[in-house]
Amino acid sequence: MTKKEVIVIGGGIIGSSVAYFLKEKGYWPILVDKDNFGKETSSACEGTVIMQSKQPGPKLELALKSRTLYQELSRKLVYDIEYREKGGLVLLENEQQAAIMKKTMLEQETFGLQVKLLTIHEARKLEPVLSKNLWGAIYSDADAQVNPIAVTRALLQDVVKDGGTILPHTKVEDLLVEQGNVCGIKTNRGEMRAAAVVNAAGIWSSSLTARYGYEPKIIPRRGQILVTEAFPPTVRHIMICACYLAAKHHPELLDPTKLQHKLGVGTVIEQTVHGQLLIGSTREFVGINKETTLAGIQEIARHVMKLMPGLKNINVIRSFSGLRPKTENGLPILGPVKELPGLFMATGHEGDGIALAPITGKILADQIAETGILS
Ligand SMILES: Cc1cc2nc3c(=O)[nH]c(=O)nc-3n(C[C@H](O)[C@H](O)[C@H](O)COP(=O)(O)OP(=O)(O)OC[C@H]3O[C@@H](n4cnc5c(N)ncnc54)[C@H](O)[C@@H]3O)c2cc1C
Repeated sequence: MTKKEVIVIGGGIIGSSVAYFLKEKGYWPILVDKDNFGKETSSACEGTVIMQSKQPGPKLELALKSRTLYQELSRKLVYDIEYREKGGLVLLENEQQAAIMKKTMLEQETFGLQVKLLTIHEARKLEPVLSKNLWGAIYSDADAQVNPIAVTRALLQDVVKDGGTILPHTKVEDLLVEQGNVCGIKTNRGEMRAAAVVNAAGIWSSSLTARYGYEPKIIPRRGQILVTEAFPPTVRHIMICACYLAAKHHPELLDPTKLQHKLGVGTVIEQTVHGQLLIGSTREFVGINKETTLAGIQEIARHVMKLMPGLKNINVIRSFSGLRPKTENGLPILGPVKELPGLFMATGHEGDGIALAPITGKILADQIAETGILS
């Protein structure tokens, strides 16, 4: 072991980004995953880098910084991450949603996010697939999309090119703790030592630290997604309905007797570079269960048809689901663990981990450098 080695547990988009930014700072990341890299939530999601969905405050600040890093990464990384600044629309179905979102808009503007209220007539000029029955939309050209699988792959490729190590099928069974300090990991392939360890194990992050008395609540929140056949570019923007944001930020507006609200269904739609639509999603608490359900699929389809009847002839070809790592306060857990010196957390990004991956990597690398434990 040299002093500059850092172990990162979990090769989803978050662990890959941490490894990349550590490498950029001159450290030697060793990234381990129990399986293949990017096989869990980071490949069972959409790729929206939406600013409008972030609550004004730390989340929006992080997201705006992350967006700038995505611009740099898309230029620097060799592998194409399919980053596109398409702009985004928040769809408003009624006056009540409009009133809530207008308030959020004003707050977002104080953080430097440019947003514009559109009538439904104006919104349909941008997106002819939209229903005439909508109230209107909010537009921001800051919203973007990316291919999360490509991002994870591109970051890993760059880490390996510059001498970092990636170890798939290496399951961390315990931390290596000596005199109260974390100095490595115990895996199914033996022990490994390093000067610092980063826990980016997504929904499994807490299980690695619980026996040491540190067990932040990270709850899996399932999201089901529909995938359509590929077709020529038609959906030009990322679109998200205001009721998705209500499910996320204003649960008091939801009616628990409605199946849509019970399943937390709100539409988030993007057309990928390859022409397929990804249409999400549900927001359900069902433990570690990645099944898709008929009720979930039907509710997603029903709601998107209400908002975008212009898509009625597009065929859905498959569905999948992923598990968002949700924390109690909705914010990710980033940084050193007081109870376990030498251990850093990079987890709990819930539905924002793709958007926040670059800034997470950068913050972790900066924090580790600042501790001086590696100098
Ligand atoms: C339906 C859905 C839609 C989404 N859409 C978006 C979106 O549009 N925009 C956005 O920003 N975010 C979105 N998200 C959220 C985003 O996908 C997640 O926040 C992000 O993927 C979390 O990444 P992660 O690296 O923390 O977790 P993961 O990708 O799950 O990675 C954790 C890794 O840790 C590994 N691991 C776990 N335990 C161990 C162990 N003991 N030893 C070794 N390795 C271990 C796992 O194998 C896994 O590879 C969505 C999520 C879902 C479910």
